[in-house]
Amino acid sequence: MISSIKGTKDILPPEVKKWQLIEKIARETFELYGYKEIRTPIFEATELFEKGTGETSEIVIKEMYTFIDKGGRSITLRPEGTPGVVRALIEHRLYLKSTPLRFYYIGPMFRYDKPQKGRYRQFHQIGLEVFGEEDPAIDAEVIEIVDFLLKRLGISQIEILINSIGCKKCRPPYLEILKVEAEKHKKELCPDCQRKVYTNPLRIFDCKKEKCINLADNFPKIIDYLCNECKEHFSKLKNYLNLYGIEYRVEPKLARGLDYYTKTVFEFISKKLGAQDAVLGGGRYDDLVKIFDGPSLPGIGFAIGAERLISLLPEEFEEKEDLLYIAYLGDEAKKETLSILRFLRKKNIKCIAEFKDKNLKNQLSRANKLNAKWVLIIGEDELREKKYKLKDMEKGIQKELNKEELVEELTKKL
Ligand SMILES: [Zn+2]
Ligand SMILES: [Zn+2]
Repeated sequence: MISSIKGTKDILPPEVKKWQLIEKIARETFELYGYKEIRTPIFEATELFEKGTGETSEIVIKEMYTFIDKGGRSITLRPEGTPGVVRALIEHRLYLKSTPLRFYYIGPMFRYDKPQKGRYRQFHQIGLEVFGEEDPAIDAEVIEIVDFLLKRLGISQIEILINSIGCKKCRPPYLEILKVEAEKHKKELCPDCQRKVYTNPLRIFDCKKEKCINLADNFPKIIDYLCNECKEHFSKLKNYLNLYGIEYRVEPKLARGLDYYTKTVFEFISKKLGAQDAVLGGGRYDDLVKIFDGPSLPGIGFAIGAERLISLLPEEFEEKEDLLYIAYLGDEAKKETLSILRFLRKKNIKCIAEFKDKNLKNQLSRANKLNAKWVLIIGEDELREKKYKLKDMEKGIQKELNKEELVEELTKKL
């Protein structure tokens, strides 16, 4: 028997229903804000991700799913969505078009990480990117979109963390100050963080080890070293969020895992997942397009972990399916069943009949197992009178209806 590859997971029915639901609601929400879907390839040249995430980023150091293809090229399965979108933006000169540069994507991402509970090598993200907008009003709107999306999905107990990590003017001098401070405590830091002291000290704040967390608490924070431009940008962002009535907490230690962020960074964390688990994260990346040899074009975006989002969905998303199960008795009724199935499906009514069980009782028990909302029974009497018994499985009510009445009844409730 061949089994699935370590770190991958089948998404089976009925769970897939939740996936379809979050994808549908995400699409609807993003389109409402004027975003368009973009689909970029799952694999790209390895340099794209090295360039995008910065060579010092953890994700590049350990987690890229890289291989040499038959042409001898180094290929990487995308570890995140942003670099591909930026590449497409530049390659197709989308910035010369008159349409807004607002994109969203939904799809699998890959990291060659140690598989552990809830972490997969193939995982899924729902993300969004805006280009060409420098104003903090767009930062606030991007946070507001996420807030709106989570509310539509019925996800509660979320805390929004925001921070500014400065720009290429104010960050380098701050990093020097941080490095000096971190160096003083180097021996007390974990081996990973010891390395970060020289490569990227800001990322010490991402460490989940208690000892490092406690030490980092007393390190200087970027928020106190912002230049005037960054300071003003951040203060306006807070004002706009207040205007939306969105609650947030400024977290000076929030640094985000990727090197390309500038100014605004944010995270949505769930009180249900525990302090370590962010449902999503995002931030501004004003220099990224330029890094990829594109024009000077600011950008901001976020990515939601679909697996985490699904784990937070409330119970009611598992309610009875809007499915009609047709149970029939005899050959004539079977023919009528086939014709009714076709008739109802044309009317957009989800319905099913199964053909292996001739016994009515078994068919009814199958309807129960499939969690069908309604059962339609077709026997000899029903055939003769052209009226069918429709049973509402939730309410236990039974009605006798002809074809047209049936459509009316089912669409009314749908
Ligand atoms: Zn700055
Ligand atoms: Zn550490």
